[in-house]
Amino acid sequence: MATKERPIQVAPTAKDFRGKVAPDWCPSCGHSGILTAFRNAFAKQGRGRHEYLTVSGIGCSSNLPGYVPTYGMHTLHGRALAVATGAKLANHEMSVVVTGGDGDGYGIGGNHFIHTMRKNVDLLYVVMNNQIYGLTIGQASPTSLLGMATKSTPFGNVETPLNPIAMAIVAGATFVARGFSAEMKELTELMYQGMQHKGFALIDVFSPCVTFNKDNTYDYFKERVRFLDEDHDTSNKAAALEQAVKWGDEIPIGLFYQDTSRPSLDESEPVLEHGPMAHQPLGVTPEQGAAIIQRMM
Ligand code: SF4
Ligand code: MG
Repeated sequence: MATKERPIQVAPTAKDFRGKVAPDWCPSCGHSGILTAFRNAFAKQGRGRHEYLTVSGIGCSSNLPGYVPTYGMHTLHGRALAVATGAKLANHEMSVVVTGGDGDGYGIGGNHFIHTMRKNVDLLYVVMNNQIYGLTIGQASPTSLLGMATKSTPFGNVETPLNPIAMAIVAGATFVARGFSAEMKELTELMYQGMQHKGFALIDVFSPCVTFNKDNTYDYFKERVRFLDEDHDTSNKAAALEQAVKWGDEIPIGLFYQDTSRPSLDESEPVLEHGPMAHQPLGVTPEQGAAIIQRMM
């Protein structure tokens, strides 16, 4: 009888992170570049597809978990970080990445954003920032610039945009970066570093909405984005903040800040010291388990 050959272990490639469903984004939407960078970064990390969980909220960008064959959860508007925190604490051996847009993450989910950073939950959060609500066809979002005319601000936006980079540095995120969807190589590297980082990692990515934001276009960013200087000290919070508040003819991108000294939530939570909760015995007999399920039906 022929013996079955053991499968050869090969390193995953970006192709392994292509799903069966093609994105339904508008042609040239910035999100497509971010999806490619995600696939590259997943592959570069060298982990199998079953070792990732991709979580999102609601919006054009939040369709992303449907386009990568990892575990995935498409949750409620603004609630992706809360769900991802629960999943991470249930099994902290999983690499958990969260995606969504500026409206979803900084507006509807603004409170979760602050507290997930404060707790230093070990997640990579990639915000696909197009400075508009795209799925609902073009209302001003928390990052829309002053004066911008949108469907909800026909006479120009009068609300000051929030600065997610400065906010993250102050609120306690331990990895804070900004990318641009057209700068693929650097974005892939930032995502890889963000996945490697132990703690909360934010990457805010300029991702032009070619359909509803005619102000912040690819050309707008190509003329303005500048990589942070090589000698920028990412361990210096004050220096990071100084760069974070820059906006105008030059907009810095790259890694602003990283703190590798603070433990993440799963590292400091005593309940998890014996390993992931998902691997712990439940402490109930099969009969008790069946009775509990029965009661909940
Ligand atoms: Fe992308 Fe904007 Fe189209 Fe949504 S509406 S898919 S954000 S270009
Ligand atoms: Mg948006």
